[in-house]
This record gives sequence, structure tokens and C-alpha cells, in this order.
Amino acid sequence: MADLLPLADAQYRLLALATPLAEEQATLAGATGRWLSANIKARVDHPFADLSAMDGYAIRFGELPGPWRVVQEVAAGAVPSGPLGPGKAARIFTGAPIPAGADTILIQEEAARDGDTLRLSGEGPPAKGAHIRRRGSNFVAGATVLGAGERLTPARIGLAAMAGHAALPVRRPARVALLSTGDELAPPGTQLRPGQIYESNADMLGAMLATGPVIGDRKPLTCDHSVNLTNAIEAAAADADILVTTGGASVGDHDLVRPALEAAGARLDFWRVAMKPGKPLMAGRLGNCVVLGLPGNPVSAFVTALLFLKPLIAALGGAADPLPRTVRLPLGAPLPANGPRFDFLRAAIADGAVHPLATQDSGALLALAQADALLLRPPHAAAAEPGMFADVLIIA
Ligand code: AMP
Ligand code: MG
Repeated sequence: MADLLPLADAQYRLLALATPLAEEQATLAGATGRWLSANIKARVDHPFADLSAMDGYAIRFGELPGPWRVVQEVAAGAVPSGPLGPGKAARIFTGAPIPAGADTILIQEEAARDGDTLRLSGEGPPAKGAHIRRRGSNFVAGATVLGAGERLTPARIGLAAMAGHAALPVRRPARVALLSTGDELAPPGTQLRPGQIYESNADMLGAMLATGPVIGDRKPLTCDHSVNLTNAIEAAAADADILVTTGGASVGDHDLVRPALEAAGARLDFWRVAMKPGKPLMAGRLGNCVVLGLPGNPVSAFVTALLFLKPLIAALGGAADPLPRTVRLPLGAPLPANGPRFDFLRAAIADGAVHPLATQDSGALLALAQADALLLRPPHAAAAEPGMFADVLIIA
């Protein structure tokens, strides 16, 4: 086991190979899912004035329980016609600015109106200032509302728009070349010859990368032949930021990816990681390209892509926090003590607990497809009982 690199060391060493890509401006739609390359400041106060949070009447709290005379009406998008004098009220709607002089909103459900005369009909506002959103209570102009390295989630895109930005500074998308290798592989949907199987890693990884920010480039299937493999690697790396190979990563006679990478001029940083599934995993540099050699077993390819490829894309994209986020859940079943490798068990989440699936074979894509999560078992983890908490990576 001595030559197996601990998972966290391997992730750290891979991310150390990544330099964030060049900056560009993207529209809000185009920036979604990417990472900010600079802090973003608000261009306006929000709210821009003291606004009503409800449909009702703007009044003075001290004049409760009324009556008042309704002398003006303010809707969202309008401005008050003037300040509110004593004994006066303004009909007001959600999002409309409060007239000067008013300090409280009487909601319409607790008001009775007869012509211009307004009376309290319910309990009334609980305190002075009720149902008013104060100017700048969300953010003020000049305040930093989003930080460099933050991922642009839908809520953050909305915040950027609210703060007055139509475009945001991000990093250009990573160009990712995908190269599947193996004599036995045939494209899905074709007629299989004896000994062939359908190739599934490229479509699976392509789907994983569809959330971006990536320009994917799927290369033709490559057979287990050193010269062909070296040529395919050289060609694919030439115009990619990341070259991902799958298959041929072990040490069998037909596992030619490592020598082919080296023949193409790659400098490998590591090639064996203490994890299960996914032990044969190679990472290094080839020119300006980071190369990542994933194992061919479909479940291993998925798990290593999640733990290495996605974080690498995030690091190139300028993410402050590129590694996947785990949550803690109680175990729904007992677990035996773990061996020396970091294990990622395929698991279901049900009734607020995480349950390992019966099938844990690294070729069993059916079980992975049925899993909601990977259940993390660190090296040498002690046996665990139901109800004890474990780290979980949601994949569904
Ligand atoms: P390898 O890493 O090449 O030794 O492959 C390990 C196992 O994964 C073998 O059973 C391969 O047939 C299978 N495999 C390799 N690449 C793929 C792929 N792209 N799609 C589906 N299965 C694959
Ligand atoms: Mg193979």
C-alpha cells in the first residue's frame, strides 16, 4: 500500500496543477454555474427607499386607532404625491415607497374603508414601523454582495441582477477532451461483434460535465495499441485544458495509457490513489493541458470524475472551494470496519438516513444509477452502528 497516495493528498496535488483560466465577461445567463473572478459591488440601495411590504395603508402609529382620511394612493413604480399630514393616510401597495410623515403600514385585512374614511377593523399593526422594508436593509450601494471565487447559483444570479449588473466577470470555460480507450468498446446503438461491449463512460462523463462550465470535445474511441494511443493523446491534448482518458489505467498487459501518456510527453504526478473504487488514477501535465487518466470501470470512472475531474474544472474556473461538498447523515445500517483505502459506498437516502446498497461492484452501473449518494468511509474507519453519523456525497 506504500505507493498508494492518500485521497486528500492526491486531490491537493491535482488542484496544484491547475491555474485559473483567463477572465472574460459573461451575461447573467451565461455566467450561471461559473465562478466569479472578482468581487461584485451593489450599484444601488435595495430597497431604494422605505417601502411597504404589504397592501394596505400608510399611517402614523401614534394616531391609532384612527380614523384617517385617505388622501393619496401609491403603487409600486410610483412615488408619493407629497408628505402625509396629521390624520391622513395613503392607500399603498406592496413595493411602493412610504410617503414622508407615515411610519407604519396598516394591512388592508385590518382596515375598513368607507369612501375616503379609514378605520381600524382588526388588531392593527403590532409596533411602529410594521410592514415597512427599510431603505438599504437588503444591501446598500457600494457594498460587496458577491465574492471572487463564489459559484454563481440561481440565487446569486438574481442578486447580481438586483444589484444592477447585466454581466459578470468569470473565467472562460475549460476545454475538456474525453478519450475512451479499450479494444472491447463499441458505440452505443451499434451492432456488437463478439467480445464487444457498449461504451458508456463518455456519455456518462459528458452528462456530468453538462452542468459546465465546459466546452466538451469527445474524441473517437481508441483501441489498446501504444502508437495509436500516444497519437490520440498528443492530438487531444493539443487544444484542450484538460484531457480525460478512461480505461487502460491499471498495470495489466493491455493497460497502455500510462506509457502512452509518458510517450506523448506527459509528466505524471501520481498514478495510484488509496481509494475504492478508483485506485488506478493518473494525473499530470502535458504541455498546457492537465491530464487525468480515469479507470475504465464505469463506477470507478464516475467516482473519480466526481472527486477529481469536477474539482479540477472548478479550480480552472476560479472556484474558491473546488472540492465537492458533503453532508452528514445518520447511518441506516451497521458498517464493518474499513480497510486502508478511502471507500465510497453506493447508498440510498431514505427516512432521513443513509443506507448502503447491497451491490458494491465497481462495474455495477445499475447500482450506481439507483444510488442517491456515496457514503464516505475514511481509511481504517472503525465499525459503525445505525444512528451514527457519516459523511455523504449526494449524487442524485
Ligand atoms: P480497464 O480500466 O481498461 O482495465 O477497464 C476496466 C473495466 O472497465 C473493463 O471491464 C472494461 O471493459 C470496462 N470499461 C473500460 N472502459 C469502458 C468504457 N468506456 N465504457 C464501459 N466500460 C468500460
Ligand atoms: Mg481496457
